Amino acid sequence: MTMRRGACPTLLQPMQTGDGLLVRFAPGPGRLTPVRLRAIGQAAEQHGNGLVEITSRGKLQVRGLSAQSAPLLGERIVQLDLGLADGLQAEVGALAGSAADEIADPLPLATTVAQLAADNGLTHALAPKVSVTIDGGGALHLAEIGADIKIEAISGARWRIGIGGNSAKARWLGQGDAAQTARTAIVILGLLANKGAAMRVQHLHGDLLDGLAADLAPTAPLPAFDHPSPVGVFPLRDGSEAYGFALPFGQARGQDLAAFAEAAIDATEIRLAPGGGLLVLGLPEDQAPALRETARRLDFIADPTDTRLSIVACAGAPSCAAALFDAKAVGRDLASSGLLDGSLRVHLAACAKLCAQPAGPKITLIGRKRGCTLAADNATPADALEAFLGERGEAHRTTPRRKKT
Ligand code: SF4
Repeated sequence: MTMRRGACPTLLQPMQTGDGLLVRFAPGPGRLTPVRLRAIGQAAEQHGNGLVEITSRGKLQVRGLSAQSAPLLGERIVQLDLGLADGLQAEVGALAGSAADEIADPLPLATTVAQLAADNGLTHALAPKVSVTIDGGGALHLAEIGADIKIEAISGARWRIGIGGNSAKARWLGQGDAAQTARTAIVILGLLANKGAAMRVQHLHGDLLDGLAADLAPTAPLPAFDHPSPVGVFPLRDGSEAYGFALPFGQARGQDLAAFAEAAIDATEIRLAPGGGLLVLGLPEDQAPALRETARRLDFIADPTDTRLSIVACAGAPSCAAALFDAKAVGRDLASSGLLDGSLRVHLAACAKLCAQPAGPKITLIGRKRGCTLAADNATPADALEAFLGERGEAHRTTPRRKKT
């Protein structure tokens, strides 16, 4: 086991944080059953500080591990046979291959890109944070997720490909069929790998990108995208429905996650979604009301109008040693303040690193040494909201234990 800072934590390479070691992992397609989710929650209680998170990219994190307990948690997770993949994996939407409103199934293209990357020896030659998203569209699209390479379905057989940022900020190179798009992705990954393990797409020269664009058909301007919420009922292709919930601020106790999984034990599968989402598939319809009731009792988000969905909080204190306030405590106060009506997103960043920054219009409360500041991005908050945020940030102020993560 190695411990690193500055790279993505994995099951075998935990990251040191303010509350101990943290591991992150993503179950493979179809592998996260209620029984396995229950076991993950129990293992987090046994080996960590009990906190489990679903990240803004829909991955699982277990917090509060020690040098002794992290390998034990790792062994338990490996035993669960979650299909954890090694090397570059293209990220797909939570309901990939299943959503009734999906434009195209991204799973075959994701498999092709991962396989080609492995065949070309690229898997371990890339910077650890290099990411590829392949978005089939639908209600739970990936438009606001940033990636080095973004691929989005235009139709059942056509895909657009771009680099850097989310859908609004990416440089779109053009469109092609699945094979053309996969080849272009591999060329870009090859360019990154050839330039060294720290290379990211923003370092690629414009003439290289112009050459790639010349081999693709032009792509039309992109329509504006909405902010997808994982909470609600989502129709699936097979006629059934997925029931969506979210963890408040992406975090829950392992024992609560285990209790949720127990209530969903007759479901066939659980999928993780950006925004702390838990999607339950294959649950007998008559059990959905009881599962919603359990989720509410556990204080999970079960209602699409829950104001907590408008708040994005960074890890904050005590989880992050750089934090200048307890971001989740500010979030809880804000959610019950009556000051949010769903028209505005609030980002709570307990230091100037601005982790977990969401796309689109928002107001951000930023922890600073000499008092919190507010930044507005295409949003005009009411005076009362501004005053409340400033006051709550100071009320939940903490002393950082190091300058940054
Ligand atoms: S924004 Fe700052 S305090 Fe919050 S998680 Fe990032 S480094 Fe930690």
